[in-house]
Amino acid sequence: MQYKWSRYLRVILLFLGASTLVGLMLGYPVEGLLAGLLIYLCWTLIQARKLYQWLSNPGAGQQAPESIGLWGDIFDGLHKLHRNHLQAQDRLLAQVNRIQESTNAMRDGVIMTDTRGILEWWNGSAEYLLGLKRSTDRGQPIQNLIRSPAFKAYFDHREYREPLELNSPARPHLHLQIQMSMFGNDDRLIVVKDVTRLFQLEQMRRDFVSNVSHEMRTPLTVISGYLETMVDNADQLPTRWHRALHTMSQQSTRMEALITDLLLLSKLETGDQSDTSHVVDIAEVCEGICHDARILSGEAHHVISLDMGERHFIHGDEDQLRSAFSNLIFNAVKYTSAGGQISVTWTTDREGAHLSVKDTGIGIDPVHIPRLTERFYRADPSRHKETGGTGLGLAIVKHVLLKHEGTLEIHSGIGDGSEFICHFPRERLAEPPPERLAPEAGDEM
Ligand code: ADP
Repeated sequence: MQYKWSRYLRVILLFLGASTLVGLMLGYPVEGLLAGLLIYLCWTLIQARKLYQWLSNPGAGQQAPESIGLWGDIFDGLHKLHRNHLQAQDRLLAQVNRIQESTNAMRDGVIMTDTRGILEWWNGSAEYLLGLKRSTDRGQPIQNLIRSPAFKAYFDHREYREPLELNSPARPHLHLQIQMSMFGNDDRLIVVKDVTRLFQLEQMRRDFVSNVSHEMRTPLTVISGYLETMVDNADQLPTRWHRALHTMSQQSTRMEALITDLLLLSKLETGDQSDTSHVVDIAEVCEGICHDARILSGEAHHVISLDMGERHFIHGDEDQLRSAFSNLIFNAVKYTSAGGQISVTWTTDREGAHLSVKDTGIGIDPVHIPRLTERFYRADPSRHKETGGTGLGLAIVKHVLLKHEGTLEIHSGIGDGSEFICHFPRERLAEPPPERLAPEAGDEM
């Protein structure tokens, strides 16, 4: 570089020296030098003009201008830079085209929007699944095209851990699953999956369970009725029948409980009609359950304490909440040995409201905790005959909490007792109805 630069200088000095020499020979050395400088200036201006013309329209396909010396090297350097830039642009364009082609081949819809939901790009499947039109919809807010309050709430939420399910606005028979992710400057990448088949299968499963439970209920009621009569008149039957009768009546009671739980679960899963906006007095509900829990405890004499905070009213469905809480409190009785302690506590804070059911019972190995709310999952299958549970209790708790936008937290360890905490969001907290007096702070049972 240094070498080239000194060569350019040498050439310029040589040219100026030659013009001065010619001037000297003619008797005008200064004029000769000035003429040389003028010629050099004109030549430089001509090259600068060529460069200017090329720079003002370099993409028009013309080659970079050609020249010699310093200007020649400048033009060559610029030409090389320009060529590299064009090649990088072509490579990038090819990549973008390839990505677009591959996303167009996808069965899932892919949509990109900006932070406000303005549609920027989408693939062919998104057109089919959501009815987007390339000619008119670019630049439109996606909320105008998917007019569902659930979708708007999901878009604004900005926390997209769980996908959203809804029917397609363009093809209502399609059931879609929508998963959003944020990228770049809070822009959204939306992936739309057609889950119609899965949805229908799930619907069939629910209907099947619900129908079978309904169909079994009537014959079982008849059998239980006869069994009850036979048990009541057992003294008229031979003694060898007594044990069989006792077992049959125990099992029919268990089956009835199972069917009641199955029906409740399928109602919770399908029942969009459940109204969770009533004002429910949790203290009253828990007092009733604790009373029943003491009866269930019977000879075992568990110490059951109830501590309700000040704000114990929430918006919810009383029957569903009673069912969920009684499953937790009765489980605590079932899985705690005689004389053990069970404490039911209701607290409220900035996050919302929390119902904790804590026992000093046998506890659960933490490996089971993530699966406890699955239907028929049992941490200790050998015990379920003893406890007579249906295996559906915690599944019911989970579904009831889902209906109330709540979550279930479980802490336990073998021999350490267990704590089940139901969390309700702050928005669920309710003021006591006007006819109710200020609630009492706590109660010991
Ligand atoms: P089940 O009818 O068998 O009690 P649940 O769904 O209510 O069914 O509970 C699932 C499993 O969780 C139970 O089988 C039991 O192993 C475990 N479990 C639930 N509550 C407790 C508890 N308080 N202490 C110990 N184990 C529990």
